[in-house]
Amino acid sequence: MNTLPPDHTGRMARAALALDGLSVGDALGETCFRTHNWEAVQEDPRATTRGPWPFTDDTVMALGIYEVLYEYGTIDQDRLARVFAARYKAQPWRGYGAGAHRLLDQIGNGIDWRNAAECVFPGGSYGNGSAMRIAPLAAYFAEADYSEIAHQARLSAGVTHAHAEGLAGAVATAIAGAYAWRNRDRRADETVKRGLFDEVLAHTPRGDVKKGIEHAALLDFSLSIETVVPLIGNGRRISCQDTVPFCLWVAANHLDDYQTAIVRTIRGGGDIDTNAAIVGGIVALATGREGVPRDWLADREELVI
Ligand SMILES: [Mg+2]
Repeated sequence: MNTLPPDHTGRMARAALALDGLSVGDALGETCFRTHNWEAVQEDPRATTRGPWPFTDDTVMALGIYEVLYEYGTIDQDRLARVFAARYKAQPWRGYGAGAHRLLDQIGNGIDWRNAAECVFPGGSYGNGSAMRIAPLAAYFAEADYSEIAHQARLSAGVTHAHAEGLAGAVATAIAGAYAWRNRDRRADETVKRGLFDEVLAHTPRGDVKKGIEHAALLDFSLSIETVVPLIGNGRRISCQDTVPFCLWVAANHLDDYQTAIVRTIRGGGDIDTNAAIVGGIVALATGREGVPRDWLADREELVI
């Protein structure tokens, strides 16, 4: 058993904030797949369907990461695999992808996660699941060296998303979340917003995720979502490459405004719940819980942590 750091309680409080930002985005985003909430949210962010809005696999897996950090203060991969599988088994209807169903079922049946992952996703998965759940980890390690954040992000992703792009998506998103926390007092500054890309790119390994983020970093913040999506994606392909650059562009652009960040994320379409989970987790670390609309928090299905 690892020794917990002396500031473990403060780290967990940050992780809980990230979970709130992530889960509200996830739950509200998910309502936009099923109802006319999409149009309503564009017109007036307060005119959403009434809750409770059920959260999805994004939040359940983020809760798994939160649980392991609470127990160990670090990512223990064997424990994380068991926690993911147990939470899946308890609520398999939370909107998991087809591959995740097979993988988590196998792990739950006692197959080692290394073998199960290689069997379900030969060569490793590059799905956006590695990024969608990482905000609590970003928060927990937000004041550590960026290299440590990247290391922990790789550990958390590796259990299910061992492809280089799956790891890169987790690293990039975790660095963005930590950057948001560290720069929260200057979150409205244009240089701080633009600086998010620099920090993320400095720590993201080479590959298509990084190329996408490099492209996103060149896009002016005044562009419309409709202009940006064809250039850098929107998660329609459910991959890190197609998801993370878009989410980082929206999060950086609206680092000081959670509500606008989520509304514009939803407007981008694609993998809406996951996009909004990623953006929400990052931006809440900059705005604090005060930045998350109170009625949205109230309408999200209750989180038991
Ligand atoms: Mg989901």
